Amino acid sequence: MDPTLDQSTTIHAPSSAGSGGLGRRERSLIALTDVSRTYVLGASTVTALRDVTLRVAGGEFVVVLGPSGSGKTTLLNVIGALDTPTAGSVVVAGHDLTRASRRELTRFRRHAVSFIFQTFNLFPGLTALENVQFGIDVSLTRVERGHATEILCRVGLGDRLRHFPHELSGGEQQRVAIARAVATGNPLLLADEPTGELDFGTGVEILALLREQVGERRAVLVVTHNREIARAADRVVELSGGRIVADGPPAGGQVPVEALRW
Ligand code: ADP
Ligand code: MG
Repeated sequence: MDPTLDQSTTIHAPSSAGSGGLGRRERSLIALTDVSRTYVLGASTVTALRDVTLRVAGGEFVVVLGPSGSGKTTLLNVIGALDTPTAGSVVVAGHDLTRASRRELTRFRRHAVSFIFQTFNLFPGLTALENVQFGIDVSLTRVERGHATEILCRVGLGDRLRHFPHELSGGEQQRVAIARAVATGNPLLLADEPTGELDFGTGVEILALLREQVGERRAVLVVTHNREIARAADRVVELSGGRIVADGPPAGGQVPVEALRW
């Protein structure tokens, strides 16, 4: 079996972790340890991430919250193997990304992680159905005939299968992007400001849809600068200046997506 399909990582906890430390195991989909990412631009350096340590398990709906420039996209890109940290260790879905060969990285990108972007990133020349089918084809996932159609129906687009992106509203395009991301069954969904281009009502609908994708073996990470969105998370990881400054349930308690207002 492809090891990427074993959806969680087994990590040995530090043996100094007190009683029961030795041999204690932790199952995480995402395990970042002391991750830093520095960009060098001529004479100046920008530290986008500083000593970030983060564990995320299957079943979690995590919102990464922080102002513009706090390192959210960099964090997502590091987790999704689109960027390499300057220091630290990144183990995602069983792959040690800082040591992986190109071949392993390709497998990881196909089978472990799916991205949803603020600007949808659909192929303009492909219909909704073809966009979703493309995601399935790239991931080499074996699916039943009609799987792409079924997923599009599930996100409420059963009557838009043959529409091209420019014939769809922003919310509909984002739903196609979500369908494309979930059609493969990959255990990790990473969404970078997925509601940024959408009006409030559509944004709430998209968040509800993302939330529904969380499963026992699947985690969803949503990056946003919008504090209100964080209220619907299981867990809020707050970034400031490239550091995690808070990590826990939303202040004031979790609320249903439908209760959000912004
Ligand atoms: P966010 O998504 O929270 O707005 P980013 O992760 O995009 O933040 O950026 C974090 C910091 O790193 C910012 O100061 C940004 O200017 C800098 N940065 C991001 N990407 C690059 C890059 N490719 N080259 C240089 N600096 C970058
Ligand atoms: Mg960003």
